[in-house]
Amino acid sequence: MKEKRVQLRQVKKMRHQHHQILTDTMKVTIHTSLIAAVTVNSIFYEDEGWLQSESDDEEYVEIDSDYCEALLNPVIEIDGHRELEQFLGNLPLNARTLLKTPRSVLLDNIADGKYWHFGLKQGIHQQLANLPHNSIPESSSILVNVDGLPLTKSSRSTFWPILGLIYGEEKPFPIGVYHGTGKPDCVNSFLSKFIDEAVQLEKDGLDHRGVNVKVRLSGFICDAPARSFVAGTCGHTGKFACPKCKAIGINFVKPGKKKGRIVFSDMEAALRTHQTFTDRETPEHHKMRSVLEDLQIDMIKDIPLDYMHLVCMGVMGKLLIHWVNRQTTQHLITPEMLEEISDRLELLRNWVPSEFSRLPRSLSELCRWKATELRQFLFTGPIVLKGILPSPLYNHFLCFHVAIKFLCSQPLCFTHNHYCKRLLNILPGNQKSCTVGIS
Ligand SMILES: [Zn+2]
Repeated sequence: MKEKRVQLRQVKKMRHQHHQILTDTMKVTIHTSLIAAVTVNSIFYEDEGWLQSESDDEEYVEIDSDYCEALLNPVIEIDGHRELEQFLGNLPLNARTLLKTPRSVLLDNIADGKYWHFGLKQGIHQQLANLPHNSIPESSSILVNVDGLPLTKSSRSTFWPILGLIYGEEKPFPIGVYHGTGKPDCVNSFLSKFIDEAVQLEKDGLDHRGVNVKVRLSGFICDAPARSFVAGTCGHTGKFACPKCKAIGINFVKPGKKKGRIVFSDMEAALRTHQTFTDRETPEHHKMRSVLEDLQIDMIKDIPLDYMHLVCMGVMGKLLIHWVNRQTTQHLITPEMLEEISDRLELLRNWVPSEFSRLPRSLSELCRWKATELRQFLFTGPIVLKGILPSPLYNHFLCFHVAIKFLCSQPLCFTHNHYCKRLLNILPGNQKSCTVGIS
């Protein structure tokens, strides 16, 4: 620690001295980048993850190691290498040497794959390091995401990262990553290092720059397959799969089709609770005991349903496909109507605020629409469909639009919860006979 402080002081001193000399031969920006990188390296690559800086120089604290490496490599490769060496001694040829990037790491073997644990503690330290000392919070809620990520189209090679996010922050951090051919065989060996660390942090908190920060894992944000995997429950297509209620699915086969799909039609089924989950009241719902149950989390409420797949790509996508696909629709919307809707969408392009990451595009490209575009249609739908979509279909869509709008709003989701339930209960009914008005 002491040695690093000395190094930090030296770097700052060098920065001061060299600034005057190097500006004549090199660009100031190159020099500053190098010193910033060395300084950041000194601060963040301690075993403890943090070394207290002697000043609150935000110029350095803001820069992360990836950025440093990207800046350094061109610096080291350019003609100024020799001139820099005069002042800094033996300058390495690559930024990785300077940043002390490990040449090899010890990976854990998990079944057929390998696992590397970055560390939950390390991640939180790095996130809190961006805050001034007087803004370090007393407690931190951590949201966790687990998902599969195919690496290539030609093989089954897959990453399964565990990502963390401090509630209220924007940038997630890696906790661990598994690489193998498909999903890890056992969720408990995959999550064990992370859960051990999380249990310890929930108990003792985290000491950061002299402040003890209480740490709580507040939620696991996963899509349906990853959710059932980490919770140790049956797959999302099972008859007992609903994570929120005890409805039993029925196999619904469309006339003329061989394969059916599981449908949960019971809208009034009893809800699951953390107690009924840990008591295994519905044994068919469970496959195994997950190590997630070691944490102080509610196994029902703290693993929410996935809005993107269920609402945006699920219901909104299904409705649009039903209206647009000429093979499934019963010609309730003519091609002229579709063209008019597309024209209106394209007209909106000039007026979409920058908060939306994509501009609206024609329905002829619906098969390429991303989830964010489907979500945007939830906002724009009432305008672009008005007067075009036949009234029962339009009213049916408005039920969905209003219910989701309310459920996405922090105060309204509580005050209008029962109203939303009534609206959503209408959705699975027959669209053609839907005459519910929104008042
Ligand atoms: Zn349910």
